[in-house]
Formats: sequence, structure tokens, C-alpha cells
Amino acid sequence: MAALEDPKPTPMMAQYLRLREEAGDALLFYRMGDFFELFFEDAKRAAAILDIALTTRGEHGGQAIPMCGVPVHSAESYLARLIKAGCRVAIAEQVETPEEAKARAKREGLPSSKVLVGRAIVRLVTAGTLTEEALLEPRRANVLVALAELRGSVGIAAVDVSTGAMVLEECAADTLGAVLARLSPSEVVVPEDWSHGPEEAIYRPRTTFASDAGAERLKAVHGVATLDAFGVFTRAMLAAAGGLVAYLDHVGRGSLPLLLPPVLRETASTMAMDAATRGSLEILESAQGARAGSLIGAVDRCVTGAGSRLLAEDLSAPLLDAAAIEARLALVQFWRDRPIERAQLRDILRAIPDLGRALGRVVAGRGSPRDLGQLRDGLSEAARLHHWLTGAPDKPALLADVIARLTGHGALTDHLSRALVPSPPTERSSGGFIADGYDAALDELRATSGDARRAIAAMEARYREETGIATLKIRHNGVLGYFIEVAARHADALMAPDSGFTHRQTMAGAVRFNSLKLHEEAARIAEAGGHALACEEAHFEALVAEVVAARENIAASAAALARLDVGAGNAERAAEGDWCRPEIAEDSGLAITAGRHPVVEAALAKTGERFVANDCQLAADNRLWLIGGPNMGGKSTFLRQNALIVLLAQAGCFVPASAARIGLVDRLFSRVGAADNLARGRSTFMVEMVETAAILAQATHRSFVILDEVGRGTSTYDGLALAWAVAEAVHSQIACRCLFATHYHELARLAETCEALSLHHVRAREWQGDLVLLHELADGPADRSYGLAVARLAGVPANVVARAKAVLAKLEATREATGGIAAGLGDLPLFANLKPAEPEPASPEQQLAEALRAADLDALTPREALDLLYEWKRTLPGSGR
Ligand code: ADP
Repeated sequence: MAALEDPKPTPMMAQYLRLREEAGDALLFYRMGDFFELFFEDAKRAAAILDIALTTRGEHGGQAIPMCGVPVHSAESYLARLIKAGCRVAIAEQVETPEEAKARAKREGLPSSKVLVGRAIVRLVTAGTLTEEALLEPRRANVLVALAELRGSVGIAAVDVSTGAMVLEECAADTLGAVLARLSPSEVVVPEDWSHGPEEAIYRPRTTFASDAGAERLKAVHGVATLDAFGVFTRAMLAAAGGLVAYLDHVGRGSLPLLLPPVLRETASTMAMDAATRGSLEILESAQGARAGSLIGAVDRCVTGAGSRLLAEDLSAPLLDAAAIEARLALVQFWRDRPIERAQLRDILRAIPDLGRALGRVVAGRGSPRDLGQLRDGLSEAARLHHWLTGAPDKPALLADVIARLTGHGALTDHLSRALVPSPPTERSSGGFIADGYDAALDELRATSGDARRAIAAMEARYREETGIATLKIRHNGVLGYFIEVAARHADALMAPDSGFTHRQTMAGAVRFNSLKLHEEAARIAEAGGHALACEEAHFEALVAEVVAARENIAASAAALARLDVGAGNAERAAEGDWCRPEIAEDSGLAITAGRHPVVEAALAKTGERFVANDCQLAADNRLWLIGGPNMGGKSTFLRQNALIVLLAQAGCFVPASAARIGLVDRLFSRVGAADNLARGRSTFMVEMVETAAILAQATHRSFVILDEVGRGTSTYDGLALAWAVAEAVHSQIACRCLFATHYHELARLAETCEALSLHHVRAREWQGDLVLLHELADGPADRSYGLAVARLAGVPANVVARAKAVLAKLEATREATGGIAAGLGDLPLFANLKPAEPEPASPEQQLAEALRAADLDALTPREALDLLYEWKRTLPGSGR
């Protein structure tokens, strides 16, 4: 910044520039009175993002300094927008009052004109470290991740700072993409010299990622001598944890947010899905990036933010352990079978505040009296639920476990209830949140200032009477405090030396006075008020300390409430859509009866259309379904609905089908031919092939793969060849369950050699010249593609369709002559052992056409030509003379 070269910066400029440098790549919010000001490039960037006025102030190096500012009281909403736009913000607060600054100057022997209020960066606001309600989405976890690689393994430390939930795991370097896709972090921190992190990663000193220091930090945070009770963590995990905690310390300027004991996550305990699969299945957001149109958008019936966040976690990481899945399903079943109790439960849950996030704010030191009130209310409701549910008969194990975690806060809630007013404010600086009767000393202080206020009110009446000025008023403002005010024309009487009033201020039309008595009462109010505030503040700190001490139990109750909400919400969804409980099996079958796509079905329902349910029956000896049929016929929908049903089932949800038996799937892959993804703008065919290669490298025989028009992104020949080879590899090498949608009729020939492959198609009919898509799956190959009919349906002009018809006729004629584009496939080594198919005997008509084609007319005499005609006529059956 040119500013640094300035020969003699003013003290304020020098201070600003020092903080500016410290803020690094973050925007600097520089506190000046009631505003946060931004200068230079920061101002230009922020003004553009926030759409606020860019002004100038003073000059620096001969140039006007660009400036913009936001009011402190509404800073949160501006922060939210800056964070969303990808900025980080350093908050520089005034860390002393002007009086303190003056006193300091005096001590240091500086002239008071030279002193500047001390400022320091008190916090970095970054996307991954937010706790403020206004900056967070209630239904989305906000995850910060730190990564550290040790000998080919990447340690991953992930924390949701808003609730303190922390998970440590490890993965091979080449599967990091899939893990990050699952975690979907809003911020990733990596060592400065490591280049394998995601593009937008934040680089931090390598030294902060040391595993032994990481272990020490975790022990210190949790006050334990060993981490063994939490799990056995690898060095890579601890290195990542070290980097994570150091970063939190850095952005919080020495104060750490809520961190719950780390949970060890076995990467192999959940279904693997890579980023491409997650994207194409639109699990947590649609292709447009919205919740609407995504799987969770169609499934989520939770009534609390915490419930929705847990459901998102469940759907992001479906389980592999049949017993754990059954435990969740049993919880859903319990509530599914009890509609009345379910409605009651949901009513109670709906009113419960977001305990986890209130706790997060309180522990981070950003809690308000309202947060304490939320903890009080939420924990009391949890206890009430405990009482109610304990008596329920036939509780499944997970419910019993959840219920057990709802209590144990009696003393705390009791204390909070006695201490706090019914609805405490979000601001604590003006007090008023500690209940009357909680602290006798506070009551007394309040009584004192109450008395004084009443005394002042009485004084006004008395002064009016004594002076005979009916319009005399006792008023209050921030500068003078209390004063007596009369209109200018009445002022003389009070000006008299013996009046008992002292003059303070003359305004246009009014004059202000003080009196000894008023001064005394005002002082009483100020003193009592100050003491009362200090008193409330002390109580607040004590309550916060009590909450902090109980943080793990509170977090456990919050998690239990979320699990209850997810169970009941899934039951609600199942009841609403008549979804069934899936049967979980350990084999490699997949039997879905009358399956539906939850998102497409919901979208159709809005326009009053019905979704056509379809079955899917895969088994070891019939594990690859090749699905043909017209565009728009429902192929993609069918593929995805089956993948989603598997995903839902293993996440412990009921599924949109009338019956489903799911052989556990270890990895789920979904690939969509590149043509659907043109918007991505990269070499889409390249992307498609890279993603397809990943399947071939990673899928196992227990995986489930859906391939939608793979090979479409390149020329017909290349595409067909690749689709063919991929289908063969999936069938014969990987031998996993697979649904493969394609418009290449030629692929049907795979059925001749692949014994576990069968042919299916989505049905369509042409009726009175129109195409009717039935969206119904049937056995056997597709008879034709209906491409032109689809084009007409889509509104392609009639003359263009007519022309296409003519071109098609020509193409088809050639195909007949040459055997089509797959004609040469019989020579592939794979087929070399096969007996060449017997050529079909040519029909008399074909023989005739062949002879006609072969005839060299120029070489014939008229007589020979006539003879040929007679001969041909004779060979055609049923043609007499
Ligand atoms: P394809 O992959 O064969 O081109 P899609 O699966 O994309 O076809 O389906 C096209 C449209 O048809 C969908 O957007 C949906 O509106 C409708 N559709 C698909 N499947 C069904 C179904 N089973 N029942 C009713 N409508 C369906």
C-alpha cells in the first residue's frame, strides 16, 4: 500500500496501517465511534459488495482516501453479506475509552492532543468460525475443516463451531475429494506448503500442524491427561486437530469457541460417495444450489433447525452397519405407529430453541441473556419430554438411549429460572435481565433508583407549585443528565440568586437549570444504576460459568432432541407419502417394488400429475439393467430414484416404495453423461471420463452404480465404444449392481455375451401422430428412439422435423446396407470365440434388390434386359405372368 511510504503519517494513520497489515487478506473494520469504517482498497471492495456509498476522507500521499462505513448496531447484516461474498473480516475495536487514553497519555507524559484511543483486532470473522444467529443458516451445519498429510494419509479435523461438534478422521490422499464432498466445509485450513488442498484453502504456518502439539492442545481444552477415552487418534488426525485449534485461537484472538470432545470417525463406517455422485443425486442442494429441489428438501419434515442439520448429516453419510440402520428405522417405526403422540412430540419440539447454537455462543463468550433464557427453556422442555417418554411402552433401543440423554440439568435449569426474567433481552449492557427476588442487594439497588425516580417525578409537581410555572418540566438527556427546563419567558424567576436553582444552559426559547435536590436524586439513580448493572453482570458471568461447566451434558441433550426430531420427522414424511420401512440385507440384491422419486413426485404433484411407480429387481445373476427408450421417457428419473432409495434406507429413513429390500451398498456412484452438464464449462467429456475412470478404479462388487448416458459427450463412435467398454467392465470385472441408461440401441447386443445383463426400456406410444411417454418400465430392448417425435413434442418447427425425417430415412437406409455402426463389433476379441451368427437367408425381395443393384445396365442389350425382367418376375413369389 502506497500509504506506508508516507513520510509522516498521522498517529491515527499509523495505527490504521499497523492494524491493516495485521489483518492480512481480511477486510479491516476499523471502529470509530458508532461506525466501523473501511479505507483504501477495503472500502472499494466492501462498497461494491454491500452496495453502499463510497466517499473519501482526508488525503494520504497526495490522494483522497476512499472510505465507507457501516453502523455498529447493524454491522451483523453487513458482515453476513461480506462473508457470503467470500470475504474475511478483521474487527478492530476501541480497547480503551477516551478517558483511559487521556490518563495513559498523562502517565506517559504525552500532550493529550497527541493521544489516540487504543485499538486492536479482537476477532477475525470468517465463514467457518461463525456463531452469531444472524450469520448462520438454522438448518445447515457450518463446518470448518483442517487438513494435514502424513505419509500419504490425510488427517481431517472438522468442527461445527456453532455447536462445538468435532470429528477427527483420516483418509487416503486420493479419496480426500469424496470426504470433503461429504463434509461440505465452508472453510478449509491447510499447512502453508501443502498444495493438495482445495483451491480456496486458507494457508497457515506449518508449525501449527504438529501432531504432539495438537494432542497437547486437545488435552488442555478438555482438561484431560490422555485422549484415550475419546478414541485412538492417528498422528495425521492430531496434526490436523492441532492446526484447527491453532486457527480457532488465531481468529478468536486467544479465546476459543465451544469444542466438544473429538469423535473418532472410521471412514469405512459409512457409504462412500464422491463429489460427482453427491452433485448428480442433488442430496443437500439441487443443481441450482438451492435446498428446494434437493433430496433433503423433499424429505425433511423436522421442526427444529438442529433436527434438519442432523438429517443432513444422516443423508450425507449413510451407514454400512445393518444394526445401526435398523436402530434408526425402529425409531422411525415407533413414531410412525403413533400418529397422535407424534403430533404432540412435534408440537413440543417446535417450541424448543436451538440449544446447541445457544450453547455455542455462550461458550464462545458471545452469549446474551436471551441465550441463557433459551437454554433454560430448552432444557426444561427436554426434562418434560424425558418425563413423558420414560413411561412409553415398547421403546426401541435408540429411543431409550435418547430419552436417557434428556435429563440431568435440574440444578442448572432451576438456577436459570430463578435468576432470569421470563424473556431476557439480547443486549446485556443495559441490564434488566436478572429477575426480581433473585438477589436482595440487586433488589435494593433497583428500589433505590426506583425511589429516586419517583422522587424526581414528585419534585416536578412540587417545583411547579412553588414557582407557579405550570409548564416547568424535569427532563433527562445523555449530556446533561437530569435538568429543570422552563420557557425563556419564565426564566427570570429562576435566575434570581436565592431561587435555589442554578443556571445550566440557555436554548432558543428555553432555559435549563439544576437544583441541589435534583442533583442528589440524580446521583442516587446513577450510582444505584451503575451498581445494579455491575451486579447483573456478575450474575451473568456466574451463570455463564455454570453453563460452560455443563457444556457436554447440554450438548448431549441437544443432540438427543435432534435425533428425536429426525425420527419423528421421518415418520411424518413416511406417513404423508405412504413410504415403507426398507428391509436391510447383507446380500447383493436390490428389490424395490413400486419405487418413486421423491423430488420428481413432489414436483409433479404440484401440477396435479401422477408419478408412475416402477420396480427394480437386481440380483447377483441379473445385476446390470440396460435401459433404453425415448428421451424424456423417465430413464434418469428411474436410475436416480433407485440410488436415492438405497441412500435413504442406509441413512435410516423410510423409502418411497411399497416394499424395498436393500442389500447393503458400500459405495454409491452416479454418473451423468456430459451433455447434461454443459453449464460446467470445463472440457465436459474429459470430466465425464475422469469420473467414470474413478468408478472403474473404486467400485467393488458390493457397490451400486448408476450410469446415465455415459459416452454422450463425444462423437457417436467414440461414445458407443466407451459406453460398451464401461458396461462390459462393470458387468464382468466389478460385477456390481448397476443401472445403465443409454440411447445406443447397439448396446443391446451386450445381452448376448453378458449373462447377468438384461434389457429394459421406458415405454412410449405414438398415438394419432403424437408421442405419449408412459414413464413405465418394461422388459426387453427399446424398439426405436422416437427422437423426432420428442423433438416435435418439444416444439421444434414442423418443417425442421420434416427435414430431419428425410435425413433419418437416408441414414437408416445406409444402416441397413452396412449393418449399422455396431456392425464391426463381431470382430472384437471378446466375441472371437463365439460362433459367428448364422446369416439370415435373404428374402426374394432382398435378392431381387441385390440383383438390381449388381446389374450393369449399360452393358445389356435391350433383349437381355427384357430377359432379366422376365427372370426376376419369375423369382418373386405370387407373381404370375
Ligand atoms: P430421460 O432420462 O429418459 O430423458 P427423465 O428421467 O429426465 O427422462 O424424465 C423426464 C421427465 O419425465 C421428468 O422430468 C418427469 O417430469 C417425467 N417423469 C419421469 N419419470 C416419471 C414417472 N415415473 N412418472 C411420471 N413422470 C415421470
